[in-house]
Amino acid sequence: MKRVAISACLLGTLCKYDGQSNFDKDLVAYLERLDWQLIPFCPEDWAFGTPRPTMDLVQEDSLKAICNTTHKDLTAPIKTYACNFFDDHPNLDLFIGKSRSPSCGVGSARLYDSQKNFISNQYSGIMALEAQKREIIALDSQDFLKEYNEADT
Ligand code: SF4
Repeated sequence: MKRVAISACLLGTLCKYDGQSNFDKDLVAYLERLDWQLIPFCPEDWAFGTPRPTMDLVQEDSLKAICNTTHKDLTAPIKTYACNFFDDHPNLDLFIGKSRSPSCGVGSARLYDSQKNFISNQYSGIMALEAQKREIIALDSQDFLKEYNEADT
């Protein structure tokens, strides 16, 4: 059985910054057909609670997650959660991250410079980067269905 880490909000958990979810009906329907062990995660809910202010990925001297309200650097608690999560769940077969999230997006997060100039919309969030650093196969939620549906056909 595949062990798959997945952004909890995609499964319907109300952990999005505004107290809602990012429930993905098609993704969940597809996953229900598979005999996979799903391991949900949400670094931002753990670190900051829900609801919470939004944040952006900013490239300064290093990559940071900066709160859009307080302008504080929120990177460390997200990284701490990610490291603990991956240490606690070794041998993951796959990481599925919510598209465009500064924590979970895989190659789809927006990146800014320190003056808030847009740099890229193809970056990865803080937790997704930790997954990639550990060589866990990581897919963006928007890419997952496309890749697996193509593999099915
Ligand atoms: S941090 Fe990740 S799992 Fe949590 S709400 Fe944001 S996208 Fe979803």
